[in-house]
Order: sequence, then C-alpha cells, then structure tokens
Amino acid sequence: MDVVQSYNSVCRGCHGGCGVVLHVKDDKLVKVKGNPASPLNHGRLCPIGNAAPDLVHHPDRLKYPLGRKGARGSGQWQRISWDDALGEMAEKLNNIRATDGAHTIVMGTGTGRHHAAWVSRFGHAMGTPNWCEPGFALRELAREVRDLTQKLRGGVRSGKREADLADKYIPDPDRKK
Ligand code: SF4
Repeated sequence: MDVVQSYNSVCRGCHGGCGVVLHVKDDKLVKVKGNPASPLNHGRLCPIGNAAPDLVHHPDRLKYPLGRKGARGSGQWQRISWDDALGEMAEKLNNIRATDGAHTIVMGTGTGRHHAAWVSRFGHAMGTPNWCEPGFALRELAREVRDLTQKLRGGVRSGKREADLADKYIPDPDRKK
C-alpha cells in the first residue's frame, strides 16, 4: 500500500502565506492542498500554490552551487561545493571592501521575502549601508504607472478604488460602528 505522509506548512509562492498540507510519498512532494484550517485561505490555493510540486521537482531547478567554466557567456557550468562557492564569494567581497570600500557594495533583494532580514544584517556586517529591495520599488513604480494610466484614461478609478478597498478591508480603530 502506498504510504503518503502529510505535513502542515505555509506556501511561499508569493507574499500570501496560504496554509497548505504537503503530501509526501517516498520522500517526494507529490501534492499540495490548501489547509481548510487556515484563516487566510480556508483550504483554497491559487495555481502557483498548486504547482509547487512541479517547481520543486523541475529538472532545471538550481539545487547546488555552480561555477562557471570556460568564457563568460559560454553557458558552461560545473557543480562546485558550498565551501568553494562561499569561499570564492567571500574572497571577492573582501577584495572589493579592501580596495574600494564596503560602501561600494550594494545589496538588492526581491519583494520582502523571508530572507530579506538576513540580507540587511549581512550588509550591516559587511559595513555597507547600501541595501535595497528593487522588487518593492518596481512594484510601487508599476502601481504609479497603473494609476497614471487610469487617470489619463479619464477616470480617477484607482484612487477611489483603493480608498474603497482600504475602507473595506483595513480596520480603522477610530471608526464608530
Ligand atoms: S497559494 Fe497562491 S496566493 Fe497563496 S501563498 Fe501560495 S502563491 Fe500566494
């Protein structure tokens, strides 16, 4: 008989953090279902959450460090150890710090994922104040472009729409019931 184990977890396919139940067979993730006990998604999942096993088992998924062999752009890579990968990066960063100063190192992350706090701490340890989240910046830029486009199209839909949504979904402690 097939033994499928299930584990409660949280999807990180986006910022949502939907509650999921992971189905694992022979140490392999075979299915992801929405957790009905989650107050966030009540058992529902979007297509990204449902596709998590495809993402986990995709043959092109990067699972270990690769070192370039051959000329840059030649697309030739070989597997290297974590020690070698981290050692090479540390050496390069330390060289930059010694020759140009730590402030010349700029760190960028995506949109506030779970690792973001560690990136800023790493920047602090390196001695650079230059850390940013381009993902957030791009999202805000995209929002501005969308708002401007909607305004140019003859409406102030976005401002009113967002105010309506905020009114509907964000609790206002001063609001009189
Ligand atoms: S199931 Fe979809 S909406 Fe929920 S966290 Fe995953 S990717 Fe985001």
